[in-house]
Amino acid sequence: LTSREFRLEDSVIEVGKVPIGPGKFVVMAGPCAVESEKQLMETANRVKEAGAMILRAGAFKPRTSPYSFQGLGEKGLKILAKAREETGMPIVTEALGIEELPLVNEYADMIQIGARNMQNFRLLEAAGRLRKPILLKRGMMSTVDELLMSAEYILSQGNYNVVLCERGIRTFESATRNTLDLSCVPLVKKQSHLPIVVDPSHGTGRSELVPAMSFAALAAGADGLLIEVHPNPIEALSDGPQSQDPAQFSSMMAELKKIAGLKG
Ligand code: PEP
Ligand code: MN
Repeated sequence: LTSREFRLEDSVIEVGKVPIGPGKFVVMAGPCAVESEKQLMETANRVKEAGAMILRAGAFKPRTSPYSFQGLGEKGLKILAKAREETGMPIVTEALGIEELPLVNEYADMIQIGARNMQNFRLLEAAGRLRKPILLKRGMMSTVDELLMSAEYILSQGNYNVVLCERGIRTFESATRNTLDLSCVPLVKKQSHLPIVVDPSHGTGRSELVPAMSFAALAAGADGLLIEVHPNPIEALSDGPQSQDPAQFSSMMAELKKIAGLKG
């Protein structure tokens, strides 16, 4: 169902009123995690001003250590809903498990399934029984074929609203957090009709590399970006080193607008 043979034309997935698909380079931005109402509102307003179309932030966080900040849970979802009301931007947020999928579904315009859950087949099937758009991130140790097969789990249950996300894979290179595999973008485009966005924040783990890799993602044919932005990255409770501050994000967006002819 995900293959080009099944569907020749590129799919367009509507997130709220924002279409993701060919010719519509969409930038999703926001902090890694909702930390407080003040932090999220400030970020939401700043990224919107800079031209982001979709707000993305985690309320449930998949942290490597159980002692790290785990997210605000439902309180975070409520703050996200408030930010949507205030800014008009649709919201994307992650569901970590099948148990919280209904709750996240109540609030989110798009549900993120993270890299660590890319092969959580029961979660994929449950997401497939919804009709809500799903942002499926590539597993850090997964091939492109495995990514497409995971998407297939969602489509096979009737939910065709899937957007793929390249977020870097693990290699021997340790200077960056992951190795962003931009070659997967034209490869996915060849094999599948589904849109694909690129996350250079997790892909590099280094904020100073994010603009160049964002431009490269556009050149590679991606349908959009997922960018982590924090009002004060040094104090971020998660993923600070890879987060843009609002000024950096806004100058990157100005460049992108020039190259892509983005509106806003
Ligand atoms: C995130 O998007 O903040 C995240 C945890 O990403 P990934 O699942 O790609 O590691
Ligand atoms: Mn993150």
